[in-house]
Amino acid sequence: MTGGPAAGLVIAALALGWVAVRGSRSHFVCPKCGAAFKAGIATFMLTPHMMGKRLVRCPNCNNTEYMAPVSDSE
Ligand SMILES: [Zn+2]
Repeated sequence: MTGGPAAGLVIAALALGWVAVRGSRSHFVCPKCGAAFKAGIATFMLTPHMMGKRLVRCPNCNNTEYMAPVSDSE
């Protein structure tokens, strides 16, 4: 009773949880106006991403582009 579909589900759940935690502990800095803002966890998981960057929209100036998430502890 090891492996199989159940193991795949557990791995998928862990991956989703990791992304959610990572998203909740990071923010973005708009390269256009310098505003720092948080993206929602759903946004973090659902937005297109490329080379570690996420397509997000700045709530301050509405600039939309790929931005790298910055850890809140930095
Ligand atoms: Zn901005």
